[in-house]
Amino acid sequence: MAIATDCDLALTGERPVCRFAPSPNGYLHLGHGLSAIDGFETAQRLGGRFLVRIEDIDTARCREDFVTGIFEDLAWLGLTWETPVLRQSQHFQRYKALAQKLWDMDVLYRCFATRSEIVAAVHDAAARDPDGALIYPGLHKGLAPEDIAARMRRGEPYALRLDMTKALALAHDMLNGQPLTFVEVSPMGKSETVAARPGIWGDAIMVRKDTPTSYHLSVVADDAHQGVTRVTRGRDLYEATCLHRLLQVLLQLPEPKYSHHRLLMDGDGRKLAKSAGDTSLRELRTRGATLADVRRMLQLA
Ligand code: GLU
Repeated sequence: MAIATDCDLALTGERPVCRFAPSPNGYLHLGHGLSAIDGFETAQRLGGRFLVRIEDIDTARCREDFVTGIFEDLAWLGLTWETPVLRQSQHFQRYKALAQKLWDMDVLYRCFATRSEIVAAVHDAAARDPDGALIYPGLHKGLAPEDIAARMRRGEPYALRLDMTKALALAHDMLNGQPLTFVEVSPMGKSETVAARPGIWGDAIMVRKDTPTSYHLSVVADDAHQGVTRVTRGRDLYEATCLHRLLQVLLQLPEPKYSHHRLLMDGDGRKLAKSAGDTSLRELRTRGATLADVRRMLQLA
């Protein structure tokens, strides 16, 4: 276990780059506020840059008024960020190119399975990935080329899944047998190298049926594209980081450091969600809360 301090990032001579990357499928709540402030203040502390990225790959659920609301809420929190803001919906070609790279490495396969086929094929309904989705039972993994061609002729939609077994083996070779790890920086600024175990995701979807990318692929693509050196986000994305590190190794992308902050819980001990209207920043703002009130609610000094 390697321990280092937070300063080494700044010593490389490059200005650190931090980001806040919301999905505009709802208004921001207090938990997002904590992520945004954490990213902004980390950038300030390190003398770095702060970016906002709009993760709107889900064109059916994302809305323009939520994008506007995000900017209003962030400005209300006193944050400033660089412009223009990257919007993922304008970069599908770039994600496609990365998916193609994974395809050429033979770690993706076409998956035509429907939700009900997956449910029917699953033996252990308790085996779920960190997002709560059933671990994919491997349907269509070894589909005959004629079958694939026939389904494609019929226009059956398909997702591209990562063959986790192949991906892990390839990453192992690319790392010359060294373990897959990431660097976690604590709130006190201590860096620790920890093991990344992406296997718990099973054959995760890299390109969805309904949009030509996925959260995992585009977040990794953009953190690299934007030169992000420090990813600050909630602990709910800790396991996602393991998968992101695997993709970074396979795609030979630079490795940012990570800081996963504490999560805010509601009164029942559940993680705050966008649906929790009463904790939306917008609602607090209209009710006349001040920035000092928000910081107190977030238990920030
Ligand atoms: N867009 C993701 C979300 O709103 C967060 C992505 C990230 O911070 O990596 O949950």
